[in-house]
Formats: sequence, structure tokens, C-alpha cells
Amino acid sequence: RKRVFSGIRPTGQIHLGNYLGAIKSWIELQDRYECIYAIVDYHGMTTPYDPAEMRANVRELLIDYLAAGVDPERSILIVQSALPEHTELAWILGTVTPVSWLERVPTYKEKVEQHPDYVHLGLLSYGVLMAADIVLYKAEVVPVGEDQLPHLELAREIVRRFHHLFGVRIFPEPQALVQEDTARIMSLTEPEKKMSKSLGPRSLIALADPPEEIRDKIMKAVTDTGPAGEEMSPGVANLFHLLKLFGTEEEYAQLRAEYDAGTLRYVNLKRTLADALIRSLEPFRRRRAELENDPAYLERVLREGIRRARVIARQTMEEVKTACGLMLDE
Ligand code: ATP
Repeated sequence: RKRVFSGIRPTGQIHLGNYLGAIKSWIELQDRYECIYAIVDYHGMTTPYDPAEMRANVRELLIDYLAAGVDPERSILIVQSALPEHTELAWILGTVTPVSWLERVPTYKEKVEQHPDYVHLGLLSYGVLMAADIVLYKAEVVPVGEDQLPHLELAREIVRRFHHLFGVRIFPEPQALVQEDTARIMSLTEPEKKMSKSLGPRSLIALADPPEEIRDKIMKAVTDTGPAGEEMSPGVANLFHLLKLFGTEEEYAQLRAEYDAGTLRYVNLKRTLADALIRSLEPFRRRRAELENDPAYLERVLREGIRRARVIARQTMEEVKTACGLMLDE
């Protein structure tokens, strides 16, 4: 079976963007592929973070994955830093990656702007580590949001260059799998930017948010001062987009017709959307609460995932090290 790899940084609770852009398709892919879903804590270190919170964030993210429907019977769940092969391979791939390729990556430029005093080698080589994460498992399909497309392009370029320089063909060229209609969910507070953990808790709806918080954030979401001109403003478009995904068809059709007629009051759109979100996320919250109370199960899931992943990772590293003339650890 073909392999799938994807991961999320343990930098806070997962939100609607992570769910719609990535995790929703992770769940659908579990039947057809061998899937490896990672908590990428090494990537989490590339932006300012608190080491004391890291462990807790890893645990919360694991609970999020499971509550959302990632099934450890079918998929392999791992924490990146438990498998040294990720960084080992990243080093090797780093030696074939021109620095100019990395300086071109849009997320690198964004992060440099966000944290000008936190620009370091690890941030620059983010894409190399991500390429290593994927090809370590010879994954062919990478379900991600649209923002990750440049990283996937970079991963393919690195693979091609590695093969060319060492005269081997070890890795498939990984392809991004982007869900067309949910590739980019926007921030509630700055709707021209993507919803993102780094824009702060007011900008996003976390899957685990309690109902009153969901309502409060949606009611305060940025809209505009009224339907002006032809183009729907980004804030309003985002709310309609979410309503289409979580509301009923009638709710959407009704409010959309009001918008088109120029009679829509945004407060009604927001109330309907908040209700729809609270309704839809209820089962997730329930499963989450159950998992919170079962640390032994969480521990088992990770231990088993890491064990299964290690077999694949070691096999790949053997091929890679042999191709590069490096020493194998027997
Ligand atoms: P951070 O702000 O810490 O970078 P993030 O919320 O942007 O976090 P990531 O961990 O970088 O999330 O991304 C995890 C996955 O979720 C990736 O596949 C990414 O493409 C997807 N994703 C993140 N934000 C969105 C969004 N707003 N819309 C659609 N997909 C998204």
C-alpha cells in the first residue's frame, strides 16, 4: 500500500483550519493507505516556545488527533523527536540543498517578519526537515493545507537532487493532497490572513473550545460595515464558507439569499454559524473528555506507533547511508 505522511506542530490546540485543511482528509485516507501522522515537535522548536509546555502540548495534540478520528489501529501515530532518523536524514538532505532554495520559501520569509529576533538555522532549514519527515517513510501522498505547497515543491526538488548526486532512486516524489474547498480557512480577527495558532486564540476556533467561547469568538469576528459593492469582504466570506461546511443547506441558502438581497444582518449569520459549530463539535468534545481520562491508553498508542515507524525509518536509513558511503549502526 502507498504511504501517507502528515504532521502538525504541537504549538497549541488544533483549530478549524488544521481540521478542515489537513486532519479531515487524514481520516478519510486511513482506509486506502498506510498512514503515518506525526506530532512534529522539532518543527515546534523553530518558533519561540516554552519547554515546560511542550510535553503538555504534545499530549493535547495526540488527544486532538484521536478525538478527531485518527484510528491508531489503522494509522501510525508518532512524536517526531522519538525517532532520531528524522534529524539524521535531515542532515544528509541538508548537504544537497542550496541555501538559496530555502531563502525563497514563503513561510520562512513570514516567520522572519513575525519574529525578527528569532532567525536561526533551524528556521531556515525547516523545509529540509519536513522533506526528511516525509521521505523517511517513502510517503507518496501528503495531505496538507494550501500554505504547505511550497514546502512540498521543495521536498520534490531535494529528492531529485539527492537522487541525481548519489546516482540512486530511493524515494518517491511526494505529492501534496489539498482539499480544494477547505484548503484555506481565514482568521476571525484578520480575515486576510489564514487562521493560525500563531495569530492568537481570538483568531481561531479550536476544536476543543467550549460552546460559550465558540459563540463569543464568532460574535466578535471581523466583518465589515455592510454589504458594499460586488465583492464579499474576506471576513464575511469566511463566515459563509464555514456556514456552508457546518450549517444545514437551508440555513446557508436562506442567509445567502438575504445577503444577495442586501437585507442580511451579520448578527444573524453569526448566531446561526455559532449554533452550527457548537452542534458539530459536540461529539469531538465528548471523545476528547474520555481520552483525557485515559493516560495509559495514550501512552500505549504512542509507544506502538513509534515502534512501527522505527522499522520503516531504519530500513530507509540503511539504504540512504549505504548510498552516501556512511557508517551503519549495527
Ligand atoms: P502555527 O501558527 O504554529 O504555524 P498553524 O495553525 O499554522 O500553526 P501548522 O501546524 O503549521 O498550523 O499546520 C498544520 C496543518 O494544518 C498543515 O497541513 C496546514 O496546511 C494546515 N493548516 C493550518 N492552518 C490552516 C488554515 N487556516 N486553513 C487550512 N489549512 C490549514
